[in-house]
Amino acid sequence: MSRSVIVLGAGMVGVSVALHLQRRGAQVLLLDRAPPGEGASFGNAGLIQREAVHPHPFPRDIATLWRMAQNRSVDASYHPSALLKLAGPLFRYWWHSAPSRYRPIAEAYARLIVTCIDEHVALTKNTDAAALLRPIGWMRLYGKQAEWNAALAEAETLKREHGVNYKALDQAGIAAAEPHLLVKRLGAIHWTDPLSVSDPQALTLFYARLFAEAGGRMVHGDAMSLQRKGNAWQVQSHEGTHDAAEVVVALGSASGRLTSRFGYAPPLFGKRGYHRHYRLQGNAVLNHGFLDSDSGFVLVPMRAGVRLTTGAEFAPDDAPKTPVQLARAEPLARGLLPLADAVEAEPWMGVRPCTPDMLPIIGPLPGQQGAWCAFGHAHQGFTLGPTTGRLLAEMMMGETPFIDPKPYLPARY
Ligand SMILES: Cc1cc2nc3c(=O)[nH]c(=O)nc-3n(C[C@H](O)[C@H](O)[C@H](O)COP(=O)(O)OP(=O)(O)OC[C@H]3O[C@@H](n4cnc5c(N)ncnc54)[C@H](O)[C@@H]3O)c2cc1C
Repeated sequence: MSRSVIVLGAGMVGVSVALHLQRRGAQVLLLDRAPPGEGASFGNAGLIQREAVHPHPFPRDIATLWRMAQNRSVDASYHPSALLKLAGPLFRYWWHSAPSRYRPIAEAYARLIVTCIDEHVALTKNTDAAALLRPIGWMRLYGKQAEWNAALAEAETLKREHGVNYKALDQAGIAAAEPHLLVKRLGAIHWTDPLSVSDPQALTLFYARLFAEAGGRMVHGDAMSLQRKGNAWQVQSHEGTHDAAEVVVALGSASGRLTSRFGYAPPLFGKRGYHRHYRLQGNAVLNHGFLDSDSGFVLVPMRAGVRLTTGAEFAPDDAPKTPVQLARAEPLARGLLPLADAVEAEPWMGVRPCTPDMLPIIGPLPGQQGAWCAFGHAHQGFTLGPTTGRLLAEMMMGETPFIDPKPYLPARY
């Protein structure tokens, strides 16, 4: 008889886990309170980031910390009332970001990231979703000589150590790549490997469709209804009660709330982010996503318009939206590109599910037989969904994992 598994959460990570389990013969039920891809997987920058071999560390230099403490930056902001609650996980994040501790973390992170393009391509090969995955990379622009020199050296190191491909563009190269850019910059690193997805939710929906077409069942319900029933697991959906031998928690930033009910409370925290789309004036075009280092936000061409996505906001996941970074970024963005009006009246907000050691949590939930974790993918969950899906499915089905899972195991917390 085939294995029965309930996967909780239909974001990029949960859908990818469900698909990989199904392809290994498991009977999978996918539960979410909403349609697939409506959490963080909806509104990200859509970059499948082959270049992101190093996770985002907590800043450690005094100048950056002081700038962030002022709470007026474009790239980071916080709710002062949330600091006490976040202090523990953020202190641990800072601690893990010390160079000597960060080095092995970055090595473990790189082992996941280097697989990301192959794993997405494996799921989309010979399908019409291949058109969503634009092989155009993305660019980072530099306006200060010292930063540009450091960026060139870093890009060369990433190429040598992790096979990351890039082109260094001078001012003329930038103008040729982006003729409607309104500013001049010294240079740009064009990361050429990443795929740029023109509609991130559409990709998650596509993976969910592959799952459904192969006989997978998707239901709506509250994952918090999960209970242990003897050796099995039970959850309620709008359609009734569902039992399975195993359960996977892939609820993104909500994962810790559920696992803590079963005795596992890793120190997760959220980095909230916002987006809004803008039309371009006249016949202007944006060919690539880019981050201007002097500005601190990302602009990406999407189906819906130019998507402006913001950096990290440290606040409770469920606090009302406070899109101050978007308000600070918009005038700067108008200085970079000839943006016309905004497409939506209200900005979108989502939560990056983060861990203090910057590594995702993938593997058996400690002390609970038949329960598994797949969350904590922070800035790169859209990139890493299929990698995590394959890794966890291999672990669950007793296959030899294609990556050593040790650094990501839940038991480290
Ligand atoms: C502004 C921004 C830009 C980003 N850019 C990128 C990028 O370019 N590239 C990249 O790789 N990553 C990016 N990320 C990060 C990426 O979006 C996340 O890491 C990723 O989406 C996490 O996927 P997930 O499946 O773990 O979580 P989610 O997509 O959040 O999915 C969790 C699911 O759980 C469901 N759920 C939660 N609670 C319950 C419940 N009680 N009952 C039932 N269902 C529940 C939700 O409805 C949701 O569908 C960005 C994030 C933000 C915010």
